[in-house]
Amino acid sequence: MSNLDRTPALSRLGGLAAVAPRPVHERYAGRLQPLAGDTTVRRLLPNLGRRLVGAWCFVDHYGPEDIGDRPGMQVPPHPHLGLQTVSWLLDGEVHHRDSLGNDVVVRPGELGLMTSGYGIAHAEHSPVPHPALLHGVQLWVALPSPVRNGAAGWEHHRSLPVVADGGVRATVIMGALADAVSPGSARSPLVGADLELSADGSGLVPLEPEFEHAVLVMSGSVEVDGEALEPGEMLYLGCGRRDLAVSSPAGARVLLLGGAPFEEQVVMWWNFVGRTHDEIETARTEWESGLRFGTVPGAGRALAAPPLPPGPLKPGGRTR
Ligand code: MN
Repeated sequence: MSNLDRTPALSRLGGLAAVAPRPVHERYAGRLQPLAGDTTVRRLLPNLGRRLVGAWCFVDHYGPEDIGDRPGMQVPPHPHLGLQTVSWLLDGEVHHRDSLGNDVVVRPGELGLMTSGYGIAHAEHSPVPHPALLHGVQLWVALPSPVRNGAAGWEHHRSLPVVADGGVRATVIMGALADAVSPGSARSPLVGADLELSADGSGLVPLEPEFEHAVLVMSGSVEVDGEALEPGEMLYLGCGRRDLAVSSPAGARVLLLGGAPFEEQVVMWWNFVGRTHDEIETARTEWESGLRFGTVPGAGRALAAPPLPPGPLKPGGRTR
């Protein structure tokens, strides 16, 4: 997934001052964003109130949408820097191709995990032909400094651990939940899990109290810690929870995201996560001149970078 906004805002994020140290409820509605082709996404992170949940720095929720007679997802080659992308589908298929030569179709229940390190390019398309329904999330994880300029990589995990307790079945997409650890390579302490609630299902999901957490309702209706939520809504929960009460009258799919508060101050612009204006400007120049990020053969014409906003990008955020 690419940020296709032609005037992407600069996001300053990181540090600890905005992290809620204790349990809170902050509701966020997704902001509709067009995606190349004919689909739209609901962007939950970054938003005006909150930029990060742990190292999770970007959350797009798309569908469920009937693309049976349409091209569906059409995201041309574009670069990434300083982050991991996490592809997670509930319905449909996404064809991933990248500048390392990976050429893979990701299906529901499978983790597509791309580590950009110092630079990678990829493209994401609905395959031809494709299933009628498309429904999923695209997530980014900011990489911490010791590894952020490391090697690029792609992982495709078809089998993920499950923690089942009563009416809640949690698939661990990234990081750890209780004793279950995803095979996806996490670079900071975090969790990403798909909570599947059966009809009249309820349970307590174990949480790491040092993490901040949020939930995104992907389908169905659910009550989380006493708060009723509908699809497309995100509830930020703060830190300091040992568990989370969830219940659903008719069944639901809920994305749980959490992680240790991300202490570094970060500059996020377009598809890049860096630390300084110069780093982002260099990355933009090198993408435009065809350097560093490589090419994605056969995936169409690469996306041009939007212009940088006037003035220096300053790493922002919060200090303790
Ligand atoms: Mn992307």
